[in-house]
Amino acid sequence: MTGDQEAEARRLDETDPLPAVRERFHVPPAPGGLYEESAYLAGNSLGLQPRAVAARVREELQDWARLGVEGHTQARRPWVDYHELLREPAARLVGALPREVVAMNSLTVNLHLMMATFYRPAGERTRIVIEDSAFPSDSYAVASQAVHHGLDPEQTVVRLRPRPGEEHLRTEDVLDLLERDGHRVAVVLLGGVNYLTGQLMDMQAITKAGRAAGAVVGWDLAHAAGNVPLRLHDWDVDFAAWCTYKYLNSGPGAVAGCFVHERHVRDTSLPRLAGWWGTDPATRFRMEPRISPPASADAWQLSNPPIMALAPVLASLEIFDRYGMDALRARSERLTGYLAARLTGVAEIITPADAAARGCQLSVRVADAAGTVRRLAASYGVIADAREPDVVRLAPVPLYNTFHDCHRVAEALASITG
Ligand SMILES: *Cc1c(COP(=O)(O)O)cnc(C)c1O
Repeated sequence: MTGDQEAEARRLDETDPLPAVRERFHVPPAPGGLYEESAYLAGNSLGLQPRAVAARVREELQDWARLGVEGHTQARRPWVDYHELLREPAARLVGALPREVVAMNSLTVNLHLMMATFYRPAGERTRIVIEDSAFPSDSYAVASQAVHHGLDPEQTVVRLRPRPGEEHLRTEDVLDLLERDGHRVAVVLLGGVNYLTGQLMDMQAITKAGRAAGAVVGWDLAHAAGNVPLRLHDWDVDFAAWCTYKYLNSGPGAVAGCFVHERHVRDTSLPRLAGWWGTDPATRFRMEPRISPPASADAWQLSNPPIMALAPVLASLEIFDRYGMDALRARSERLTGYLAARLTGVAEIITPADAAARGCQLSVRVADAAGTVRRLAASYGVIADAREPDVVRLAPVPLYNTFHDCHRVAEALASITG
């Protein structure tokens, strides 16, 4: 019935209320020769390049060539204020007030800057809560923060595990821990969407419980930003950070984002690691030795930003602004729902079945993840991502993936595992 299923996938692509805007992206050619373009399901690892990026970067190169140092003030988009251009679209993307967000550094660096401010172990309140399946960088970062404060990471870092035999954390279990043991917790730092299982956490409920317990609650949004709608301000999140090279399509190692809740940005008593880009821009060039930070997330900036690296982020955020995260999420649920249905009986899906408890990614368990991913690419032109030993991650991205891509993945997996 393959022909019928392919026709159905094509029909879904033609009739979807928000069709893919694939033509705005460079889709890598398919290895394997069956199709011209790959079915690129690895946008959770590295998003595709928007076609608009090259011109944006070229403009900055031209302005640098044409203007030299004058580009700081005379470029088409003057470099001294360049990061300002990203503020409003980034705020819309994560549900923040403009002064609560800033584009800077990379994700792990931002997590450290946030912990330098918000991880203040004192008395018995010393613990950092993460998930056991946290991305390794997060595990290393929190352990090193404990050491930095003279604490033993083994005693300090609490790793949340699913119940035996289960794949996901239950919100009720996280809330229970915070209620029972919250007086020992200094910081809760979880992934909004887990990188391995694709589980979308109940950020609002966990933030509320963590704060009620007297802890600071931060979110790593690497797999959530650009994937699911966020309301960081309304959820009362203390801080958050995200990279922009996954769902935000801004290129390898692209400049990350950071959120600090409004209630903190005015608090000059907070300890910060400071640099000259964190002082008030109105007085920055007086070159005074004493910092006067603005009441915004900008106060956490250190250095003057890399313009060539910010240009792709700006081009990408404009695409998100054009379609809106809510419309993209609706399309994402249709695509991922379709892929989940097509994978039933083909592979064991370890991502939550409830659409409200996942983003676009589906993780499937296979016998040999690396081998499966190799064969998907070489024989079917399907680009997926292996997490050793036995998880393959498939992320239909609403901007550039199609129902037909999902059809190709399902067919290919069926022939490899069948
Ligand atoms: C991708 C990812 C990172 C990567 O960190 P970088 O500092 O951008 O290299 C960190 N944490 C999570 C949860 C991730 O998914």
